[in-house]
Amino acid sequence: MNRHIKDSLSRPLRDLRISVIDRCNFRCQYCMPAEIFDDKFPFLPKSELLSYEEIVRVSKIFAELGVKKLRLTGGEPLLRKELATLVAELVAIDGIEDIGLTTNGVYLEKHAEKLKAAGLQRVNISLDSLDDDLFKKMNGRGIGIGPVIRGIRAAKDAGLGVKVNMVVKKGTNESQILPMARFCKERNMTLRFIEFMDVGHTNGWQLKNVITKKELLDMLQTEFDVEPVEEEYYGEVAKRFRYKGTTTEVGFITSVSESFCSSCTRARLSANGSLYTCLFNGKGHDLKSLLRSGMADEELTDYIISLWNDRDDRYSDERVTGTVKGQEKIEMSFIGG
Ligand code: SAM
Ligand code: SF4
Ligand code: SF4
Repeated sequence: MNRHIKDSLSRPLRDLRISVIDRCNFRCQYCMPAEIFDDKFPFLPKSELLSYEEIVRVSKIFAELGVKKLRLTGGEPLLRKELATLVAELVAIDGIEDIGLTTNGVYLEKHAEKLKAAGLQRVNISLDSLDDDLFKKMNGRGIGIGPVIRGIRAAKDAGLGVKVNMVVKKGTNESQILPMARFCKERNMTLRFIEFMDVGHTNGWQLKNVITKKELLDMLQTEFDVEPVEEEYYGEVAKRFRYKGTTTEVGFITSVSESFCSSCTRARLSANGSLYTCLFNGKGHDLKSLLRSGMADEELTDYIISLWNDRDDRYSDERVTGTVKGQEKIEMSFIGG
């Protein structure tokens, strides 16, 4: 392909999130409530997941369109077999500069070294509580923090960059905000507080359960001195701060209280191969059928360009007092956050 295809985009496309599987070993209340995602839940059969070959093909097209960062997510991405093989193939794509993984960390102890050797650069590990009982309750599977802590250690020992993600839900885990901040600061790890979001339809989201960045920052400042950090690049999602006198950062994902749709440069590929131009869309664009229909890469590229140029997503900007009514939305476990 020798056209200057990046120039055909009306706004930049920097970042692609790839959900490699819709299954998970957890049932976090805010993502896959156990009452709904039960034994009878129709998870995707393997044939409906994009194969690694298909994921690599799509990623190459996105790299030509300007994507530099890939993030593997899920469901729980470490439930997908031989993930390191996929990482190695993605690393080899021209133009891809950064590959990350978002995981609940439970299987990292087993896989961290192999993933690092394959070329993975960093991991975001989700941990919502240091209180074992609360953590067991929140993940809906009675799994304690032990395996996650060991996963964090294994990732650091393997030389992976580690950030910790904490979803904060009012009435559930606000007691953990300061303990988590201390825990991460002492280990020089970036902690990112994520505002509880109204992704999908199953997590019972209500605005009153959101603790905003402002509230979180106020709480943090009762104990720590923090200062804002300059944005590193256009479209950066986290609002970053630094503990004064250190290099350790703490960030906020403010999808509810300070939306950032106008600078959104991220596309998402769901576990069954649909492309979403917004986390809150109900309708994806079925790339898998096109990939399997024998469509040439040039045609696929044109299709993706037209989708990206036509998009006018600004869900978070429009969400003012409550979840936008009547809109079909995809579940987080399917699209991966
Ligand atoms: N299973 C992996 C994990 O938990 O890290 C990857 C997939 S998970 C869907 C990706 C991220 O989305 C996690 O950091 C998780 O905490 C976050 N998340 C899930 N549901 C959320 C919600 N309703 N609001 C905000 N963040 C959410
Ligand atoms: Fe699983 Fe991650 Fe969703 Fe929790 S947040 S249920 S670990 S996919
Ligand atoms: Fe991007 Fe949609 Fe999130 Fe807005 S709501 S920042 S358009 S993903």
